[in-house]
This record gives sequence, C-alpha cells and structure tokens, in this order.
Amino acid sequence: MSSDASKKYGLETMSIHTGSGPCPETGARTIPIHQTTAYVFNDAEHGADLFALRDTGYVYSRLTNPTCSALEEKLAALDGGSGATCAASGHGAQLLVLSALMSPGDHIVSSCKLYGGSANQFATIFPDMFGWESTTFNPDNAREAKAAITPKTKAIFAESLSNPEGIVADIEGLAAVAREAGIPLIIDNTMATPYLCKPLEHGANAVTYSTTKFMSGHGNAMGGAVIDGGNFDWLAHADKFPRLAQPGKNYDGIIFAKSFGNAALAIHNHAIGLRDLGGQQQPFNAYLTFVGLETLAVRMQKHCENALIVAHYLERHKKVDWVSYAGLESSPHHKNAKKYMNGHGGAVFTFALKSGFNACKKLATDLELFSQLANIGETRSLILHPASTTHSQLDEDARTKAGVADDVLRISVGIETVEDLLNDLECVLKTI
Ligand code: PLP
Repeated sequence: MSSDASKKYGLETMSIHTGSGPCPETGARTIPIHQTTAYVFNDAEHGADLFALRDTGYVYSRLTNPTCSALEEKLAALDGGSGATCAASGHGAQLLVLSALMSPGDHIVSSCKLYGGSANQFATIFPDMFGWESTTFNPDNAREAKAAITPKTKAIFAESLSNPEGIVADIEGLAAVAREAGIPLIIDNTMATPYLCKPLEHGANAVTYSTTKFMSGHGNAMGGAVIDGGNFDWLAHADKFPRLAQPGKNYDGIIFAKSFGNAALAIHNHAIGLRDLGGQQQPFNAYLTFVGLETLAVRMQKHCENALIVAHYLERHKKVDWVSYAGLESSPHHKNAKKYMNGHGGAVFTFALKSGFNACKKLATDLELFSQLANIGETRSLILHPASTTHSQLDEDARTKAGVADDVLRISVGIETVEDLLNDLECVLKTI
C-alpha cells in the first residue's frame, strides 16, 4: 500500500499494510531484506541522473535501501509526515536532523528533561565537536523556551513524554513559540509512539525516534528515524537554513526546498545527511523494526494498561515514597497526558523507595520477571536503578536534578500477565 493510499486508513491498518505488499514476482507476502550494497544502473545516463538527483532510485545503500525505504514509508504514514529517514540509532537520528539545520556557533533550545544520553549529547558532545550550543527549558513551560531563544537559535527540541520521569511536553505551546521565532519544533516521540501521540498534529515540524524501543518492541534491533513534517516553510527563512533553502555546494547547487517542496528535509537527510555522515540503518534491522511495528497498537495498549495497574499498586504500597506516572490522575502531568496522550502515561516511569539506595539495588536485582538492564520499551518488563548504573558518574546533586536521586528506580512495564508482575514486585518488596 502506498503512503497516499494509507491516508484513508487507521493507525492499526497502516502499521500492518503501509510499505508492504505481495512481491509481484514471487508472491512473497512479507518484505524482503535487501542485503545489498549497490544497485545496477540501466545505462550510463540513468546512473548520471540518479547521482545528480534528477531521477529517483537506488544507487548505494549508505543513502537508500529498499528495505529501509519500506520502513520509512510506514513511519512517515504513522506520523502523518511527508517523508522519513531511518538512522542507525535514535542518537543517529538526532544528529541527522540537526545536521540539516545547524552550523558552528548556532544554538538550540532543548528540554531539561531529555533522556540522559540525549542530555549529554546536547550539553557536551554537540558543543565540543560541532559548536552547537544549547540552553535548556522545562518542557511543560513554553514561556521558558521562548525566553531561551537567541538570534542563533535554529530549533526547539523536546521529548513528548520524557524518559524517565514521564513529563508530558506542552507541544502546542512550544509549536506556537517556534512558529513565532521562525524555527522548527522537533519532538522526540520515542516514549509515546504515534499510537499515543502524533506531534505533527499539534504543530511540531519534525519527529525523531529511537525505534530501538517501543516502535520495534522486541529489543533486538537498534534504530532511529527522522520524520519530516512537511509543514515548515524553509524558503521563508532561507537566511537561517542555508542547507535547505539556499544553493548548496553539492548536486549542482540544488536548493532542496525548491526542488523537493515539502519533503526537503527528508530528501536532504538522505542525499546529504546519510551520504556524507554515514549512520544509515542496516536493512536487517529495518526489517525487524518493520515487522515489530505491525503490532504497535496492541502492544502499546497493553503496555499502558499494565503500567497503570503497576503504578496504582506502587502508589499505594507502604514501602514506596512516590510514583511519577502521568497516567495517574494524581500526577501533575495528567492534564497534559489527557490533552496529548489520550490520558495515557506510556509504560516507563520512575518511583522512589522509602528505604533508599541499597533497597533499590536489591529490588532491581531480585525481581524475577523484570530484567535489570538499560533499555525501555521491550515486550518484557525492565527495571533500572539509575543512581548505581547509568547515572553513577554524576554527583548526587546532578542525579537529583535529573530526577534520578539515589532512591529512584526506572521501570518499563512489559505486556506480560499483569498479576504476575504484581506478584513479582510484592515478593521482593516484602523482603526490603
Ligand atoms: N530518545 C529517547 C527518549 C531514548 O530513551 C533514547 C535511548 O534510550 C534515545 C533517544 C537514543 O536512542 P538510541 O539508544 O536508539 O540511540
């Protein structure tokens, strides 16, 4: 099914059918893994046209690959975007989208509640390596984002649902601020997925994913993606975005926004971003994610149902100090969860144990069904004690600011039988 045809279908239908159809030659029903590096040209002219972007087609798998294209078609359809670009990982997707927008000395306004790895990317690696500076803001406070904008700011970046605290961004407020400043709003929708939230419908201009998480769901394929919202007028802000809206040094001085209209960002991400920075997704990973996406809706529904039950259980438990889950009506973030996520809080959240650091380590270690590891969004339940693992190199003050003080655990609730999860938690909590 083409992405145009899929516009009339619901998310569940698109997640199964878009990007896949029976192979016209063999009748094979699911998509093949195109494990190839390069593609034969019809003749020299054809090769020249492909290289110059005068014709569309496959040249070399660093830029495009049919299995990755099938995934990109599905991803773009699920979010309602004009195109998508797969990357090797979520971090790769973040680098990819910013590389189209930013130059040395430019600035980005980014949420102070980003996943730790992203926070580090923005705070240390991007400025050190590329000269991309950033200022942080509270994602549920658009006024803070506005105050942080400078003449050098090229984008606002936030997670729709933050990892790990589950704070829901004020996407519409941020979109209004971005619009007024003439810059795009980029939303990392990894924790919510398009099942819970479609940021483009709320005014965002691009969406990034770590497809490593809920999108693939099984925890066996690294991947990332950038969705082009197709709704930002690059030409109207050509002075700010020369790579998209001014003649470039490549492809005979092509102006992406003129030649490719509302898919300018997606095409640039392939033709320049992947071509020149590498970081493309492997076709086998694209295949695994493509297949995983077919069950996105049923998985996310069950993730959210289980997470709410587990959050309620923990909230009432005498050994638990607090639970931060936007799906709970008592959460200060529930209002935004209702506006942007249908009232759901996703499946990842934090909670604190009254008895502190060692008790957290014990709970994370002794649980039988919860794997103690540094991932989220798998079918199986996962748990992590950030203070002794991912955030152990930060001092206590920095950990507390990041929402992962010593007594805090992060949980990613899977889609197992929920009574089994509650029993597992109860058995260990009894011993603490
Ligand atoms: N964004 C969020 C919200 C994440 O949780 C992660 C990883 O945990 C990333 C981005 C980075 O993704 P990846 O690990 O696929 O590079």
